[in-house]
Amino acid sequence: MATICMVTPGKNKDTRVTESRKLLWELGKVIDIKSISPKVKLFTIETKKPHRIEPGQHFDIKLTSDSGYVAQRSYSVISDSNYTNQFEFGISKITDGEVSKYLHEKLSISQNLLIRGPIGKYFNLNKTTESVILIAGGIGITPFIFYLRQKNYKNKISLIYSAKNQEEFLFKKELENKNKLYKNFSLIVTLTKENKETWKGLDSRINSKILKKTIKNHLGIKTTYFVCGGSNFVENISSKLIRVGIEYQDIKIERFGP
Ligand SMILES: Cc1cc2nc3c(=O)[nH]c(=O)nc-3n(C[C@H](O)[C@H](O)[C@H](O)COP(=O)(O)OP(=O)(O)OC[C@H]3O[C@@H](n4cnc5c(N)ncnc54)[C@H](O)[C@@H]3O)c2cc1C
Repeated sequence: MATICMVTPGKNKDTRVTESRKLLWELGKVIDIKSISPKVKLFTIETKKPHRIEPGQHFDIKLTSDSGYVAQRSYSVISDSNYTNQFEFGISKITDGEVSKYLHEKLSISQNLLIRGPIGKYFNLNKTTESVILIAGGIGITPFIFYLRQKNYKNKISLIYSAKNQEEFLFKKELENKNKLYKNFSLIVTLTKENKETWKGLDSRINSKILKKTIKNHLGIKTTYFVCGGSNFVENISSKLIRVGIEYQDIKIERFGP
């Protein structure tokens, strides 16, 4: 079985340090590809052996060209199960993106690629048994979807989600259903570029007012804050959280971009 090859070589920008534990690359077979928004596709990759996975963990995906050039990126895992050999990745297409563009435009069902994981202890959402406030920007929703799929909602969970518009409000139905179903779950969505005629909800970027209101609902409950999205988003939200009085050790962040 050949591994998938990139057609266009470029520069390898991956400087991410993963973990000291030696993780081996293994072959993953693409078994499903679904468009879930104009920018995001859901790729399901199957490995031979199953892995125990936790929400917040990610896998590295490696592409190799015929010339031997290698590009590797990390993607948060989504699943319905904690022990599986089928892993979903919600991947946003970056216009000039070396890997995401390739995956969106060239990858097809039955192809193989190299993956390794699961990786990540720090942003592991199962590490806390407490109440949580999850704050996602755009594609930063992926680790939270996995987390929300396996919760029993005994503890209070709030999700503040900022997306551009209705089309990029990822996993909309799933999140809205959970919001109806579980009284301990609160979904707060802000769509920053949606038409005001069709969207009557929040439309500003996540600001201190939105944060304070959500924090108030967790008053007196030990709460951990998980923030995920592009670097600017994550920096911005964590400084706002600190400014409204949250202790830095209660904030966990995952940066998806530069
Ligand atoms: C732990 C971890 C988990 C991640 N999980 C996911 C995930 O679940 N889904 C997902 O889509 N991505 C995720 N990412 C981001 C992913 O690893 C890649 O960085 C992303 O797909 C872009 O790679 P690329 O090769 O397409 O772009 P590159 O070729 O690396 O970058 C091309 C250009 O786009 C800019 N750029 C790169 N990333 C972004 C971005 N996110 N937003 C805006 N501009 C950007 C770069 O600065 C550069 O100018 C995760 C990253 C980390 C570190």
